[in-house]
Amino acid sequence: THFGYEQVPVTDKAKRVREVFSSVAAKYDLMNDLMSMGVHRVWKRFAIDLAGVRSGERVLDVAGGTGDLTAAFARAVGASGLAVLSDINAAMLEEGRSRLTDRGIVGNVPAVQANAECLPFADNSFDCITIGFGLRNVTDKDAALRSMLRTLKPGGRLLILEFSKPLHEGFAKLYDQYSFKVLPRLGRFIARDEDSYRYLAESIRMHPDQDTLKSMMELAGFSRVQVYNLTGGVVAVHRGYKL
Ligand code: SAM
Repeated sequence: THFGYEQVPVTDKAKRVREVFSSVAAKYDLMNDLMSMGVHRVWKRFAIDLAGVRSGERVLDVAGGTGDLTAAFARAVGASGLAVLSDINAAMLEEGRSRLTDRGIVGNVPAVQANAECLPFADNSFDCITIGFGLRNVTDKDAALRSMLRTLKPGGRLLILEFSKPLHEGFAKLYDQYSFKVLPRLGRFIARDEDSYRYLAESIRMHPDQDTLKSMMELAGFSRVQVYNLTGGVVAVHRGYKL
């Protein structure tokens, strides 16, 4: 109902919802570029390189959304490997799947609707699991960490790409101004949605900082956890192993 299509017959409605969602997703891409001044591509590339995915491996992209990370993994694992795109949101997953198809990435990329907190995969299934800008939205983060550990093979690695806490005080103040003043305005003008971007800024502030997330991973059972700060700590990549 919140798309305002109550009057439309069901089949058309599904189609309309899908169209609205695609246009929202396109705006969302534009917003990502504007908000991060294009740097989100560099952050994703860093995480992809750090994942070090090789031919024949089995990779799971949790909260994969429109599939930016999944696309890179699907190429890296090749025809003998597997890159699973997963997301809790069916419309998002559908959008991700169609984008992969448009880019000619098919065959080794199944799309699976899945909640990070209780992944529907067998124990010891994946060589590598990633969650990019997704953990922040997960309600029970500890459950998600445990679920990802369970589905990793022994020796497998988890990479978490997420907003974090700026390392330097002066920069942190500027970043705060940007997040709570500039961002909601960008949201209003570009996406006609100020509230979502205010929520984004708040959710980033609430998210556990570098050390806290590292401890949470260790508590969940991950070994050799390392943190890589990007853009002065605006974003961090956490990598840990199941040993
Ligand atoms: N990984 C993509 C990227 O970096 O562009 C998409 C990130 S998007 C900001 C966050 C995604 O997390 C959304 O697609 C949302 O549906 C998904 N999500 C939120 N809660 C989730 C959960 N509990 N389990 C799985 N996915 C979830």
